[in-house]
Amino acid sequence: MLKKFLKRWAALLLCVIAVVSFSACSSKRVDQAEENSTSGGSGQGGRTEESNTGSTDQTARTEEGKLKISVTFNAMKEFVEAVGKDKVEITTIIPDGTEPHDFEPKAQDLVGLSTANVFVYSGLGIEAWVEEAVKAADNANLITVEASKGANAIVNTDAEEIEKQVQYNPHIWLSLKGAEIEVKNIKDALVQADPSNQDYYEENYNNFNSQLENLYNEYKEKFQSVEKKSFVTGHAAFGYLCRDFGLEQNSVEDTFAEGEPSAQQLAVLVNYCKENNVTTIFAEEMVSPDVSQTLANEVGAKVETIYTIESGEDNKTYLERVTDNLSKIYDSLK
Ligand SMILES: [Zn+2]
Repeated sequence: MLKKFLKRWAALLLCVIAVVSFSACSSKRVDQAEENSTSGGSGQGGRTEESNTGSTDQTARTEEGKLKISVTFNAMKEFVEAVGKDKVEITTIIPDGTEPHDFEPKAQDLVGLSTANVFVYSGLGIEAWVEEAVKAADNANLITVEASKGANAIVNTDAEEIEKQVQYNPHIWLSLKGAEIEVKNIKDALVQADPSNQDYYEENYNNFNSQLENLYNEYKEKFQSVEKKSFVTGHAAFGYLCRDFGLEQNSVEDTFAEGEPSAQQLAVLVNYCKENNVTTIFAEEMVSPDVSQTLANEVGAKVETIYTIESGEDNKTYLERVTDNLSKIYDSLK
């Protein structure tokens, strides 16, 4: 029922976004076909340092001269905001309340792409539709950023996911180390799109990056100090976070937010919780909290909310939500 409500609400939001992106687009563009071909190798996310010769046409910006950035989902919006601040105007394609895993864009979701300066997606298979969307946008000036590019991706071992052609675990933004890579790629793209404000983007990037670093150092020490290393959550979104800190996750659902666990899977989890003295089950707002509750009841644990940052949640920033996640996980291990 909740899902139905979310979908209806999401549809409404889509209309609003479509209207906003229509009204945001300004006058016509001069043709600069060179843009996409400067970087070597496979293209997107690569730096094209030498593209100072007007890589982006000023007339394609908003009336206030801001860069128009399209992003796929909430974590990408947070990262772009952290670096671009008041020099960017962001449109989020996947509306809050919609699972990125389930999302399939309709034409009206993508209108913004044809006039955007930069398009940011996370990659590793969570937005399987991006390639076609970029092609359909037919925007020669668009700088496309695969934010996770260059990251050491975690290979999926789940047979079901491999069957769905999802080769890697996509949840890299939930790791501080993963976030550092994504934010760096985003910063490079903003500099490329708007070289005259390079210092501004570099400074914002450095500030944000040191906040990520500080948080990482703080929790590295904390997690080293506890003996218990494993926790149980709703969907297995925390593989990269676990790698950062030498932790281990077990999930109520598979990594792909679809389907509920069988009775047999549930029994395995119950045993796991009992054997490992798990006292907290983490649940996400969008992924069947009832299953987490059932499991918690079975083993006498409590349920805590954890953020996947796939959607806007509780009006909190990226750093607030990650800090919240880390502190709750840490508390559950003490
Ligand atoms: Zn997810």
